[in-house]
Amino acid sequence: MEFLKNIKNKTLLITDNSLKNKILDEINSLDNLVNIKIITKEEFIKRYYFDYNEETIYYVKNKYNLSVKNAIMYLNNMKYIIDLDIENKKVIFLKNMYLDLLNNDLLILDNLFKEYLKSVDIIVLNKDSIEPFYLNLFNLYNATYIDIEKEEYNLEFVYHFKTIEEECAFIFNEISSLLKQGVSYKDIKLTNVTSEYIPFLKRFSKLYNIKINNLEKTSIYATVETNKLIKIIEENEKEDVIFYITSNLDKEIFLSFLNIINKYYFVDDLKLVLDLIKEDLKKTNLNNINYQDSIEVIPLNSYLVRDEYVFLMGFNLENIPKTYKDIDYLDDKICPLIGLFTSIEKNKLEAKKTITDLKNIKNLIITYKDTDPYKSYYPANLIEDLKLKIIDNKETINKTSNLYNKIKLVDNLDNMLKYGTKKNDTSILFNTYQDINYLSYNNKFKGLDDFKLDRLTLSYTSLDNYYHCAFRYYIDSILKLNIYEDTFKIYIGNLFHFVLSKIFDDNFNFEFEYNNYLKEREFTKKEEFYLTLLKEELKNIIEIVKYQHSLSGLTKVKLETEIKLKYQDNYIFKGIIDKIMYKEKEGNTYLSLIDYKTGTPKLDMTNLIYGLDMQLPVYVHLVKKSNLFLNPKIIGFYLQQIVHEKGSFDPKKDMESIKKDKLKLNGYSINDDYLVNMFDESYLNSELIKGMKITSKGFSHYTKVLDSDSIDNLVNMVDLKIKEAFKEIENANFTINPKVIDGKNIGCNFCKYKDLCFKTGSDLVYLEKKRDLSYLSGGEQDA
Ligand code: SF4
Repeated sequence: MEFLKNIKNKTLLITDNSLKNKILDEINSLDNLVNIKIITKEEFIKRYYFDYNEETIYYVKNKYNLSVKNAIMYLNNMKYIIDLDIENKKVIFLKNMYLDLLNNDLLILDNLFKEYLKSVDIIVLNKDSIEPFYLNLFNLYNATYIDIEKEEYNLEFVYHFKTIEEECAFIFNEISSLLKQGVSYKDIKLTNVTSEYIPFLKRFSKLYNIKINNLEKTSIYATVETNKLIKIIEENEKEDVIFYITSNLDKEIFLSFLNIINKYYFVDDLKLVLDLIKEDLKKTNLNNINYQDSIEVIPLNSYLVRDEYVFLMGFNLENIPKTYKDIDYLDDKICPLIGLFTSIEKNKLEAKKTITDLKNIKNLIITYKDTDPYKSYYPANLIEDLKLKIIDNKETINKTSNLYNKIKLVDNLDNMLKYGTKKNDTSILFNTYQDINYLSYNNKFKGLDDFKLDRLTLSYTSLDNYYHCAFRYYIDSILKLNIYEDTFKIYIGNLFHFVLSKIFDDNFNFEFEYNNYLKEREFTKKEEFYLTLLKEELKNIIEIVKYQHSLSGLTKVKLETEIKLKYQDNYIFKGIIDKIMYKEKEGNTYLSLIDYKTGTPKLDMTNLIYGLDMQLPVYVHLVKKSNLFLNPKIIGFYLQQIVHEKGSFDPKKDMESIKKDKLKLNGYSINDDYLVNMFDESYLNSELIKGMKITSKGFSHYTKVLDSDSIDNLVNMVDLKIKEAFKEIENANFTINPKVIDGKNIGCNFCKYKDLCFKTGSDLVYLEKKRDLSYLSGGEQDA
């Protein structure tokens, strides 16, 4: 770049980004100081005409009723028509929009720039690739044009592969050989890496243990933190959002959030600009890890500084050169009037540029494929234009990775077994690798490398899952492969829960709450039919529940109460209790806990010692350990079945009594008749609690009661099982260990992951069946 040495005056150099760094390197190597400023033509035009910010986009979007993307598109095209004087609808529309923005002070103007241009020498590099629109402006300031000559090496070959996998295997084989010959990582580059290559390159990078920098950009938009931020913006005031972000600034992603939110200084309510914020989040990428010894992905037009080896993959018509279509807002009819290239001109220029860029690389290895797993590809037209000789890759045995060859052999054997097709290299691979143990599989869980949890939240469901089978929990809660099924049955359960959670509200209106829940969903005719029946049933349930309430001295009620307990700093155990009935008296709080059930209630607590079936005990534990109530004293904990699949008929009872019976509470009460009476005034022959009866000897033999020591022991046992689960999960103990009790495999009951775990008989864990609750030292009290 000899011209740099001749620069004497203040100079403005206009070039594209690919050359910027190279020029800066050259300037640094010069002996004398050069008074030069480097900008791109895009930066030039922003300063010459105008720039815009989020406030401008917000205005355009709202005033002209546009999406964020379209608002930006109009703003970007606007600069081309400012000095244009033609009768064209699009031009007139953009001009009016421009004047509107100008009048409203929504454009950022650099009023000194034109004066500045008069005071400097302007040099423009590589004129051929610049549109006349820009050149006309540069000419106003007597710009000098200089072409940077590129090297021109011979291009002779292109390697052809049937599949993308073979292509990547070849590339990694070559890279591995180069590294073995002593070529440094920094001198090996990949280019033209289009999206279909990413999963293959990641896989081969692992197989060969060769790290790749800049392989892909990951937007922060898909992260859990962003999801949460969007929810917080949707539900909170601006100050709360800022408080939430600034309280978490120790995490890098929150700095990005803050930068984005700061751009919206002009609104008091961030909800108004949520769509703009979402676009910003999509455009912001997570910082990639830069590995030390690694190869790098570069753009094709990079200026190389040494004799680097560059692997250009995907030399296919679909991938290279980039093609343009006449689909832009400023189309091929208007572009010549403005001085912009038409799509045809852009395509010619792109092909020319690509050839120049290719020839500029001394050690270039070009490859292309016929197919990837999803589609077929054509070879690039440039192969013919450049008269490249096609070398078909027949070599399928990889010389540098045994692991790859073994995987290939297994793939070949699968093909043979399933489709009866034998590939040429199968025999040679089979003879070389006899140790692959084909079709034998060890399903044992072997632990996880680098497993670390920043936070862990357990609930009754996840805890129960863990104790049923640790691997089941791993799939469900760590890998999150569970697919939520929204069945009609689940929907009805949720509807009943929802309406029941409102019935003690001051202005409870059944019709409003019921219809409000239903409005979000469409129903089939069959579902509509059932809904009319279920609506009546729900009304009936509410009446009975309210009647039950009138029998109780625990007059206060909390519904759908979420309780969270902290175990260490970042471990939380949480649960939601459907209904807590309580009364405060003489410094104590007397409580009964009720969980609504839509399925058949399971009350058996004998497996609690194994961490199983702990739902009600978990709720007792949450209430006792939290600070929600003053000195909580548990009177009882019960399940209440609110949806019944089958009706039952007792000829001795009327319909009303049958319905009341079905809604009786099923669970354990304290063995203290004074306290039971406080909860259930009908306790002598209870209308509220199933099996609650007093005989002359006290509680009936069938009544389920526990003393207060047993309840305390229950709480301690639950606490122990929660701590144990936290510890095991922290240690990544996700063994396949479904529990078998009394000959029944309860661990795998309703488990959807049978196809993943390949469970065998040796995985089953047999547990001794406990017949009673004697492990709670007081024991179950049968009166
Ligand atoms: S099927 Fe059984 S063994 Fe397999 S993950 Fe599920 S519970 Fe565990």
